Amino acid sequence: MKSSRKLEGFLLVRLLFAHTCCTLITAGAAWAETLPADLLLVNGRVYTFSWGEPAPDGTPAADAPHSAAGWKPDAEAIAIRGGRILFVGKTRDAEAYRSAATRVLDLKGAAAIPGLVDSHTHVAGLGEAASQVDLVDVKTEQQAVARVAARAASVPKGQWILGRGWDEGAWANRYPDMKLLSEKVPDHPVFLASLHSFAGWGNRLAFERAGISRATSSPEGGEVVRDKNGDPTGILLNRAVPLLASAVPPPTEEQFESYVLAGLRVMAEDGYVAIHEAGAGAEQMRAFEALEAQGKLPVRVYAMLSVRDEPLSRRWLARGPDKQNDRMLVTRSVKAYYDGALGSRGARLLEDYADRPGHRGVSGNQYGFDQKLVAELMKAGFQVGIHAIGDAGNRETLDFLESVLAEQPEARNLRHRIEHAQVVHPDDVPRFARLGVIASMEPPHCVEDKTWAEDRLGPQRVKGAYAWRTLRRAGTRLALNSDLTGSDHDIFYGLHSAITRRDKKLEPAGGWYPEERLTPEEAVRGYTTWNAYAAFQENETGVLAPGRWADITVMDLDPLVTGTAEPGRLLRGSILATIVGGKVAYEAPALAKASQQ
Ligand SMILES: [Zn+2]
Repeated sequence: MKSSRKLEGFLLVRLLFAHTCCTLITAGAAWAETLPADLLLVNGRVYTFSWGEPAPDGTPAADAPHSAAGWKPDAEAIAIRGGRILFVGKTRDAEAYRSAATRVLDLKGAAAIPGLVDSHTHVAGLGEAASQVDLVDVKTEQQAVARVAARAASVPKGQWILGRGWDEGAWANRYPDMKLLSEKVPDHPVFLASLHSFAGWGNRLAFERAGISRATSSPEGGEVVRDKNGDPTGILLNRAVPLLASAVPPPTEEQFESYVLAGLRVMAEDGYVAIHEAGAGAEQMRAFEALEAQGKLPVRVYAMLSVRDEPLSRRWLARGPDKQNDRMLVTRSVKAYYDGALGSRGARLLEDYADRPGHRGVSGNQYGFDQKLVAELMKAGFQVGIHAIGDAGNRETLDFLESVLAEQPEARNLRHRIEHAQVVHPDDVPRFARLGVIASMEPPHCVEDKTWAEDRLGPQRVKGAYAWRTLRRAGTRLALNSDLTGSDHDIFYGLHSAITRRDKKLEPAGGWYPEERLTPEEAVRGYTTWNAYAAFQENETGVLAPGRWADITVMDLDPLVTGTAEPGRLLRGSILATIVGGKVAYEAPALAKASQQ
């Protein structure tokens, strides 16, 4: 084990030579000391994660910087040049890499870890939400209208303004109407979705564009709220919301690209150096490719093509997967759906739902799973990530993967993934490792679903749900992620969920089925080294070592020490810097200020 890591390090140094300058090879061992860094991180609590993998029960490897006293950082400083790491070690020794042109970031005791990766995202939705007027936490109608009016100042007249987040529950006794909104924002149609999407609020122009008038009747299960004269007030409830929402034109190509970029920028600000986009259609790929061509991608993108977009899949089938990791955008994976979701009882179960006898959900062909196309893509060398939630959904997906691998054993090296792997029957647990299938899972789902998951599954089957430890013990590789925008992608929430199985209110006290918890080290690896493996990038990133990509996340707390001693405090952590390929993609004002001094 040790010698193979040494060999790998040697190869990386060779690689680095090739990357920097060929003439340096003749300079021999002195080269490192003479190369100045572009960027130097000093005085940090640096965890390189270049030690061995933890055991399946979570015990740290013998060479991990861990003892009875707990975790201790294994470095303080990182020197970076040309997008790659030159040196990791003591601050004192890092000084050798400093020149007048070197930018120095003084971490002042902040923690630096390998760059975070969210390995299952839907980033356009995140960017769209970030681009909308944010009405979460507005207390009054006046406040909400003022925010919309402020946005209107920078939007061309006639263009829609969208917002979301006003609380239909809190405002239920006195809904706002269109009067003030139309007065302050007369020239833009406005649609403001409520926090839980059960209500919509619009201005006069929006109602005109949607053709909603006193003549419009309320649809079944919905209500067009009216005043005493019978005119719509501006509020639509439940199934009446689409009357207005459907009048909003789909985003133009340019708008969509701006949503994608906005989403990626949010990720950079939140500490992520890369995302795996779980199901990119043609529009999304066009946006990624355009942003890459313009050099605008703030974080790396590992695109999983949507098999639901058959023409796109066929185009890539002819072209073949990307084999190199030399670009910010890498496309060598596809995403397919095998069954539905557990909450809405769409996930396919082996036995009836505990809370709906006679019902088992739907899967496979019935759910639009294109077995033939997915098999063709696998045979053409694409990794496949298949969404499977129920225990039958997972079993049938494993059966499918096994059947393709039986025909073509080398496809096993493609690191196929089951996205969610949410409920797995005990008999199927060992099959993941046997088939080399990665379980790509969302720690937040466990703490969010815990209130109803047991209702759906009953006391026995629930033991195979969100069963991270059980899967690990059986030798399964995990990849951790958020499935944003469905769940909050905040890394501190993700780590906290994985380590404690408690929600944001720290409930339940002992954790929900706590025997399935991960250790702090496993949780961090789940978002770093393990996600690097899931994208075939473990030789480039996932650990901090010379020759690797300079992809680094800096945070204001030590995730291993805090995650062990006071995991609840993780929820108050914040990101200080995100470094992608040696470029500072995000820097918190506090850190920027500190390092100027
Ligand atoms: Zn998803």
